[in-house]
Amino acid sequence: MDNCLFCKIIAGEIPSTKVYEDDAVFAFRDINPQAPVHILVVPKQHICCADAVDAGNSACVARCFEAIAKIAKAEGLENGYRVINNCGADGGQTVMHLHFHILGGVKFSDKMI
Ligand code: AMP
Ligand code: ZN
Repeated sequence: MDNCLFCKIIAGEIPSTKVYEDDAVFAFRDINPQAPVHILVVPKQHICCADAVDAGNSACVARCFEAIAKIAKAEGLENGYRVINNCGADGGQTVMHLHFHILGGVKFSDKMI
């Protein structure tokens, strides 16, 4: 997808701190971390947001969550962590390539839900 920041990161056209990669998933450290561990997990396939997930592309979402469990173990997040997806303007999404935030390394005191 032209002009997509995360597609360019996946392609290596923009540098990132990669923590994980397989045939379907790429993961890298967030440039503006909100916790001691803050990693973005993205499908290599360009899907704009959670609202665009359907039966034809949902397998890569499952692959993202398989990667999340591996990354969490590799990062030593045995006490737990949060996985966050922001969807669309009202959800606060700023990069329109589906991604999941892994946040960990601290016990979160604030809870929205
Ligand atoms: P969201 O607001 O849910 O769309 O999340 C986008 C995230 O991408 C934010 O947490 C940003 O800090 C992060 N981000 C933006 N540009 C980069 C970049 N070049 N490398 C790593 N993370 C980035
Ligand atoms: Zn993209």
